[in-house]
Amino acid sequence: MHIDQASEAELKEQLNDLYEQYEQLAERKLGLDLTRGKPGAEQVALSNALDGILGGDYRAADGTDVRNYGGLDGLAEARELFGALLGVAPEETLVGGNSSLTLMYQVIDFAMNEGLRGEDTAWALNDQVKFLCPVPGYDRHFSICEYMHIEMLPVPMLDSGPDMDRVEELVRNDPDIKGIWCVPRFSNPSGCVYSDDTVERLAKLPQLAGEHFIVMWDNAYAVHSLYDDAPALASIADYCRAHDTLDHVFQFGSTSKVTFAGGGVAFVGSSERNLSTLKAHLAFQTIGPDKVNQLRHVRFLPDRAAIEAHMARHAALIRPRFEAVLDTLERELAGTGMGHWTAPRGGYFISFDTRPGLAREVVDLAGNIGVKLTPAGATHPYGRDEADTNIRLAPTFPSSEEVQASIDAFVVCVKLATVKQALA
Ligand code: PLP
Repeated sequence: MHIDQASEAELKEQLNDLYEQYEQLAERKLGLDLTRGKPGAEQVALSNALDGILGGDYRAADGTDVRNYGGLDGLAEARELFGALLGVAPEETLVGGNSSLTLMYQVIDFAMNEGLRGEDTAWALNDQVKFLCPVPGYDRHFSICEYMHIEMLPVPMLDSGPDMDRVEELVRNDPDIKGIWCVPRFSNPSGCVYSDDTVERLAKLPQLAGEHFIVMWDNAYAVHSLYDDAPALASIADYCRAHDTLDHVFQFGSTSKVTFAGGGVAFVGSSERNLSTLKAHLAFQTIGPDKVNQLRHVRFLPDRAAIEAHMARHAALIRPRFEAVLDTLERELAGTGMGHWTAPRGGYFISFDTRPGLAREVVDLAGNIGVKLTPAGATHPYGRDEADTNIRLAPTFPSSEEVQASIDAFVVCVKLATVKQALA
């Protein structure tokens, strides 16, 4: 029954029943955790063959001994492989260490303090620097901004990606806006895939926004489909070439959720001009990345087909966890008006929206019975979800049984908070 149609007496009866269920859950002393957007143990084990794969052959295709120093851009074959994933040429690709987040930080740090086009273009010379942050979004993007004193302006995330009418209006009217964060395929946390129109408008955005504007294209889930029919993502690089904006777009990716989350390979794609500027900055930080790991990755996943076959094995492991969450939400909450949620075709998250003003309470209720959820607000800049509705669910890391137990308890917490609010 829809909550708005329930009489006061019905609500009171439901409330008593829910308190009883909640008490029973409390007695079970659960110790569950749906917060971690990281691969489970079986997933990382899919890549154990990386260990020892070189078999004593440390030579790259061009004869480079990968054990030694050098090669700031990364190994040629790694640039080719990962550049192709981003839709850019090897010369437009730099392969770094184990974390794309580090590369993102380095790009922002560089643009802020050194300037992408010489020191007089450093954003830090402006009184204010602002970034557009589609919400709900990824908290670590927001942390980088906060750390760098970049003011964050939230923009709504639609099923097609960021609300581009709003984005274009904002950049047209505010020259202090220097960038936008994007997770274009299986966005964190909504799971949406940006539409072709959105990708093209983002590629054109620098023309509206000005010379020193950049698009931070974090394609962390580029190959992370759960289903064969998952929507594809248009190539932003192709649109950038058509609109002459490649200098304004930095694409990122990594194998953190392909091979080892702590021991993968990260990469950035942009114009050759940007990469050579960036390299001049990176040269002060390192003599070169871990080419041994890059070669291990190329040997393990030599081409797109190998990556896809490997990702299908990941999907087989995590799809049942996603389905457990979605089936339970559908069975328990569909048509009740107590919340709505996304049903992603890939990625690592499900985004759940409570009725306004209830996300914090649901997270607290769950926490009090041993079910840890991502803190409410984490998906918004400064941790401020004004409507207090969004909760990010991350089902990959716990076992299937734990996922089921967590979502069963979650549903009770959502119902309890909603019925209480309706009676207040
Ligand atoms: N970008 C997004 C959208 C993520 O969700 C994550 C991890 O959860 C990362 C980046 C982290 O990437 P990396 O491990 O390459 O630093």
